[in-house]
Amino acid sequence: MILDETKILKVSPDLSGEGDVEKLQFAAEIIKKGGLVAFPTETVYGLGANALDEKAVASIFTAKGRAQDNPLIVHVADRGDIDKYAFADGNGKADILRKQMPAPLTVILPKRDIIPFTVTAGLGNVAMRVPQNVVARKLIELSGLPISAPSANLSGKPSPTKAWHVIADMNGRADVIIDGGDCAVGLESTVISLCYDIPRLLRPGGFTYEKLCELLGKVEISDAVLEQLKEGQKPESPGMKYKHYAPETSVILVKGSMFKVREFLSGKCEDEKCGIICFDEDTDARCDRILVMGSRKNEQEYAEKMFDALRSTDLLSGIDTVYAVLPETTDGISLAIYNRMLRAAAFNIIEL
Ligand code: AMP
Ligand code: MG
Repeated sequence: MILDETKILKVSPDLSGEGDVEKLQFAAEIIKKGGLVAFPTETVYGLGANALDEKAVASIFTAKGRAQDNPLIVHVADRGDIDKYAFADGNGKADILRKQMPAPLTVILPKRDIIPFTVTAGLGNVAMRVPQNVVARKLIELSGLPISAPSANLSGKPSPTKAWHVIADMNGRADVIIDGGDCAVGLESTVISLCYDIPRLLRPGGFTYEKLCELLGKVEISDAVLEQLKEGQKPESPGMKYKHYAPETSVILVKGSMFKVREFLSGKCEDEKCGIICFDEDTDARCDRILVMGSRKNEQEYAEKMFDALRSTDLLSGIDTVYAVLPETTDGISLAIYNRMLRAAAFNIIEL
C-alpha cells in the first residue's frame, strides 16, 4: 500500500453521479504511483496495479497471498491496445476474438518484452482482456496504463462479486476500493489460450465454449476444467492447481433431476446444521439456510449469485455442511458453474 489507510470510493455503475470521474481520476493517480486499486468489472472485482511496474505488480501477490507462480491477466481499455503488449496482429484467431471485445473473455498470446515476467510468473505468454464494465474501462483509460488485476479476494476464498466482499478481504491491503455495485456476470472471465495449434479453453466463464466453437471451429477443453489434477500433473494454467473458491463451511455438491433432488433435500431442509444452495424448483421450504439461485431454466442467475452464496454460507450460524445443487448439464454457462463449484467442494459430489 502507498496510502496509510484504504479509501473506499462509491461511484454509480454508469458514472452518472456527481464527482464520479474525479474519484476515478484519484484512483488512476494511485495506479500511476504504484499503488493498488480494487475496481468492479462485469465478471468479478479486480485488484489492479500498473502492469509495467514490477514492484506494484509484486504487491498484488502480497496483498492477496497469491502464489508467485500464478500469472495475472492484463486489462486494457481498447482492443486496439492488445498488440502493444502481446503479439496479436496478423494472428487470424486473435483477430476473430478481438472483434468480440470488450467481453468477459481473456486471450493468452505470446508476450512482448514490455510486460515484465512478474506479471506472467515467468511465462513467455500473457493473458489479455478488455473489460466491458464502464467503471473499469474509464479507470484504465485515465491511468493511461495497462492494469494487471486478479480477482480482489484473498487467495482461495470465493471471488468477490459485491463491494462488501472486497471490503471484507482487502480493507487495509488495497489503497483504494471503488464500489461500483454488483458484478453482472458474477464469474471470472473465460480464459482461452491461442498458444497451441488448436485453441484451448483453460477456464470456462461468461463467454461460452459453444460461442468460441462457433467463432473458431475446433476448441479443446483442458482436462483440468472438470477434473482434478493428478499428482505431479503439470497444469496448462498455473492457477488450476490451487485450492479455490472455498468457504470455511464444507460444501457437498448434489446432482440429479428435479424429482430426485426434491426427495434428497426433503430430509435436509429441516436439519439446522445444513445449509442449502439450490434452484427454486428444488424445494418449497424457505428459510435463511436455504439460498435459492433462481430457476432451473435460467442458469445465468445461478452464475451471478454463486460466489455470494458461497461467502454467505460462512455467515449462517451453526451450519457445518452446505449441500449445493448443480445444474443438470454442463451446457453453456453451466460449464463454468461446474468448474467453480467442483473446486469450492474439493470435488466432493453426490450423484443421485
Ligand atoms: P484470476 O486469479 O482470477 O485473475 O485468474 C487468472 C487465471 O488466468 C489464473 O487461473 C491464471 O493461472 C490464468 N493465467 C493468467 N495468465 C496466464 C498465462 N500467461 N498462461 C496461462 N494461464 C494464465
Ligand atoms: Mg481469482
